[in-house]
Amino acid sequence: AKAQVVVVGGGYGGATAAKYLRMWSDYRLQVVLVEPNDAFVSCPVSNLVLGGYKTMADITTPYDNLRKRHGVTLVKDRAERIDPAKKTVTLASGATIAYDKLVLSPGIDLMFDGIQGLKAAHDEGRILQAWKAGPETAALRRQLEAMPDGGVYALTIPEAPYRCPPGPYERACQVASYFKAAKPRSKVLVLDANQDVTSKGPLFKKVWAEQFAGIVEYRPQHNAVAVDAKSGVIKFDVQDEVKADVLNVLPPMRAGLIAVQTGLANANARWCNVDYLTFQSTAAKDIHVLGDSIQIAPGMPKSGHMANSHAKVAAAAILAELAGWPVNPAPMLTNTCYSFVDGKNVIHVASVHEYVAAEKTFKTVAGSGGVSTGPSEMEGVYGWNWAQNIWADMLA
Ligand code: FAD
Repeated sequence: AKAQVVVVGGGYGGATAAKYLRMWSDYRLQVVLVEPNDAFVSCPVSNLVLGGYKTMADITTPYDNLRKRHGVTLVKDRAERIDPAKKTVTLASGATIAYDKLVLSPGIDLMFDGIQGLKAAHDEGRILQAWKAGPETAALRRQLEAMPDGGVYALTIPEAPYRCPPGPYERACQVASYFKAAKPRSKVLVLDANQDVTSKGPLFKKVWAEQFAGIVEYRPQHNAVAVDAKSGVIKFDVQDEVKADVLNVLPPMRAGLIAVQTGLANANARWCNVDYLTFQSTAAKDIHVLGDSIQIAPGMPKSGHMANSHAKVAAAAILAELAGWPVNPAPMLTNTCYSFVDGKNVIHVASVHEYVAAEKTFKTVAGSGGVSTGPSEMEGVYGWNWAQNIWADMLA
């Protein structure tokens, strides 16, 4: 029988893996993609929906081409259970699919239990995260629109590592840009559990001081422990409590739930250790974990660009293993994260990571990194084109 690869999760990691497994096998390998959503909605650029500069339609791409052009079998369902011994995936519908190789890229699970009151407030739709792009992104935008001028938007950030290091700071800029134009007496409070801004710090701080003076206030070492949606209060372990009108509370994060439930989150019970040559889980044979779910080496961000890069290394390794060829002994990963500080101006950080066999890990290539000198409209063009290009790479 023909080998079959099942991919769970059609996001940055999974969609890329599904397409490249088909292309690089000359369309011989059977690839099944399990994803519950109708279409792909991008987290990158989703902060611009909060700023009012883009719509949900602008960040949504259908899965059709994976099926029509690339012959991926799409299964619109959720993986409920994985049996690594029998090599099967059981779906919410009850159906079971067998795999020779499984690719798991389920993104993140938000650890609501870490903040008292948050789960209930989230389920009632009062305190949103919008850290998985989709209906919550649109709902958070509506909360910002409904907030009166002079109100306060509070964004809490968990301790690193979390999905997308610069994402919260970009979001602060987007909301501030909207407030500056539409309700200038309003405030953006950034309450960060970390010691300092964890990505592009000097650049973000300069933008807040110069472009959003009097609007953005940054407070480090604010570790949220409880919320009260009715009174709009956020409590911290050490610092004084804060009251706000729109609360955007990001709890700590871990690997996607299905990876945790399968017993793959063997790094601090949060992230999945993988063999970086193949992205195979160190806890289960023939299961390759990609994207935000993995335990990262120093300097590797949890980003869409990285997940796309993981997917290509894993796809090549899977095809080599199925064919009985040696796997590439020297994979490389690349990353660029663009952050929109308003509707047009962007800053970026970039890096290249090489596999170092002696230490079995990825290391940042010396001198490969780059960071903007300041926001520019030119980078705004690059940033938007980056999104168009990576969506095409995954889904066209
Ligand atoms: P995802 O892309 O989230 O894909 C996971 C998929 O798995 C989802 O489609 C989900 O429905 C599916 N899934 C989950 N569980 C199951 C299951 N049991 N069965 C079937 N399917 C399942 N990255 C950048 O590179 N650049 C940026 O500018 C950038 N900006 C960001 C801004 C924001 C506001 C946020 C929140 C993130 C940003 N990121 C950015 C980070 C990026 O979104 C993530 O790193 C990336 O999505 C990780 O890819 P993934 O494949 O691990 O997860």
